[in-house]
Amino acid sequence: MTPVVDLRSDTVTKPTPEMRAAIAAAEVGDDVLGDDPTVNALQERCAALLGKEAALFVPSGSMANQVAIRAVTEPGDELIIDETTHSYNYETAGPAALSGCSVRLLAGVRGVFTAEQVAAAVRPENAHFPHSRMVIVENTNNRGGGSVWPAPRVAEVRAAADRFGLHLHMDGARLMNACVAARCRPTDYTQHVHTVSMCFSKGLGAPVGSIVAGPKPFITRAHRFRKMFGGAMRQAGILAAAALYALDHHVERLAEDHAHARRLAEAIAELPGIRLDPATVETNIVLFDVEPSLATAADFVARLRAHGVWMLPTPPQRVRAVTHLDVSSAGIDRAIAAFQSVCRGR
Ligand SMILES: *Cc1c(COP(=O)(O)O)cnc(C)c1O
Repeated sequence: MTPVVDLRSDTVTKPTPEMRAAIAAAEVGDDVLGDDPTVNALQERCAALLGKEAALFVPSGSMANQVAIRAVTEPGDELIIDETTHSYNYETAGPAALSGCSVRLLAGVRGVFTAEQVAAAVRPENAHFPHSRMVIVENTNNRGGGSVWPAPRVAEVRAAADRFGLHLHMDGARLMNACVAARCRPTDYTQHVHTVSMCFSKGLGAPVGSIVAGPKPFITRAHRFRKMFGGAMRQAGILAAAALYALDHHVERLAEDHAHARRLAEAIAELPGIRLDPATVETNIVLFDVEPSLATAADFVARLRAHGVWMLPTPPQRVRAVTHLDVSSAGIDRAIAAFQSVCRGR
């Protein structure tokens, strides 16, 4: 069997032999007792990298977002977020279930909204209304197709947040993709937000884990809610070691994933039955629509799969392909060939 090209997500990456060696060599301790030196090192390193007072290692990006929401809200508060937001669409109604918050949705451009939209969504002080409390910007934006927030736009949103006393959180699950694409430092973004989360298990290629960072009192509360949500781990240094390895070795290489995504997008945009503007491919996510006359998204994905190329359908017509560490240039060639044969019915 020829190898599969797995473009379903950048979460499918497997730890490299070198990362496994770093995992094997990790010093560990009981992190619930604060004893794990590798977890502590990762938290300190991320606090510095993200320009925040403190950071907390958590099992997933969803937990990072949900402890952040829980730490800054109370039941009856409202979040102001884009309609594409991960914490709204893919975290099983966590804001409602875990924090008792409602959401006010904005219609941004591929997940990127304006300060004016935030200001217009803030509730006036009135006993009938929820309390507007928190804004989340997602960078890059997943459902928007890996779109990158311009740092000045984040600064504008922060100014609006300050005007209304709102907390600004960045869901930076793919923050490093944004930084590599925008050629900037993480702090160029994070200086404008109160708190930030970032995933190690996406493009950075670690098996497990995310970080959430912010001011010390915030992290103290987040730590409490991590425990409440069942996310306190013991000898988690074996996971933190993989994250540290990823920060050392897997950040700059994200440019390769972006180039692969761009090459794939440019090749398939020309094919009959595919609707895609390659200019919208800014990082490692390629979103396109299949014309109904060709196939449904699910059928199209099944046909590609017969060629050993895997993607995820979003019914009825949308398909997502994500490039990552385990997709080589030859894998992209193979994916392009599979598209050519499916679209041209050969
Ligand atoms: C993947 C992702 C998360 C977290 O996902 P987990 O599977 O819980 O780690 C959060 N935000 C965004 C934007 C994501 O893409």
